[in-house]
Amino acid sequence: MKNEILSIVVPCYNEQEVLPSTNERLLTLLSDMSASGLVSAQSRIVYVDDGSRDATWSLIEQYAAADQRVTGVKLAGNVGHQNALLAGLEHASGYAHMIVTIDADLQDDATLMATMVERYHEGCDIVYGVRRERKSDTWFKRTTALAFYSLMRRLGVKSVYNHADYRLMSNRAVRQLLRYRERNLFLRGMVPLLGYKTAEVLYDRVERSAGESKYPLSKMLSFAVDGITSFSIKPVRMVLTLGILFTIIALGILVYALVAYFSHRTVSGWTSMILSLWFIGGCVLIGLGIVGEYIGKIYIEVKDRPRYNVEKTLPDHADKQEGAA
Ligand code: UDP
Ligand code: MG
Repeated sequence: MKNEILSIVVPCYNEQEVLPSTNERLLTLLSDMSASGLVSAQSRIVYVDDGSRDATWSLIEQYAAADQRVTGVKLAGNVGHQNALLAGLEHASGYAHMIVTIDADLQDDATLMATMVERYHEGCDIVYGVRRERKSDTWFKRTTALAFYSLMRRLGVKSVYNHADYRLMSNRAVRQLLRYRERNLFLRGMVPLLGYKTAEVLYDRVERSAGESKYPLSKMLSFAVDGITSFSIKPVRMVLTLGILFTIIALGILVYALVAYFSHRTVSGWTSMILSLWFIGGCVLIGLGIVGEYIGKIYIEVKDRPRYNVEKTLPDHADKQEGAA
């Protein structure tokens, strides 16, 4: 049971500064875990080079030559963190029983992997690494992250609070994830959709030891927009609600305008102007909302997500009897 292969997937984009220490630490960790019998000695590290322009790939080649537990995948261009993660998961799903994804800078506590593996052995398919607090973040990043998580929740997107992409997944969970054929990846929103037994482990995140963040504000924002628009069609519904609201306001204004008209308190033309303004506005928004509903449906269909995930199937006795007869 405990002789199962772990694969550590590490996306790397221009990470030559941190890679030497990361590689050393991860290898020591693997040795420790296999010595204590938590994982098989066949376990490995998969570095995914996301189109780096520095010496990252040659370092990876060097590490792979020096230690057979290290391997690498080089992507042809920069496709972004989420796609790089998926490339690594796809590669590792071919042989690993469990896969941990972790950032190259090891800001997330790598030693926690042992606990994750324990949870896996206890029967969890997905183990989320969750940050205890955000002390190492700037005030700005902390506040925006908080606002983002609560907005996501209000829009009906399931995601684990304070969890980035540091997680362990079982082989079957990864295979299931790979059935989600969508292009706009937001893995931390997709993984909770799998529905397997999950656990959370807490850790403190440290600051990046070398190099700089590959997630500037602009990338962070577009990631957030992706997260919302890939999972929720509620913004479209809001347009419809707004349209209905405007039409109701138009009715109120109709009463007001007629009263004003008959009591001769208006200049000529005002009544029809103001009425048509609100009424047409309401109609246009309702129209947009209805069109949006259909586009939302098309969007969901186009994603072609699996409709269900099977957790377990019991042996079929009827089949066996038939086979014996
Ligand atoms: N990364 C990547 N492709 C990109 C940007 C980032 O593979 O286009 C990797 C990067 O090498 C790191 C991880 O994604 O391993 C997270 O990036 P970073 O640590 O810069 O993000 P932060 O911790 O600042 O949010
Ligand atoms: Mg980082």
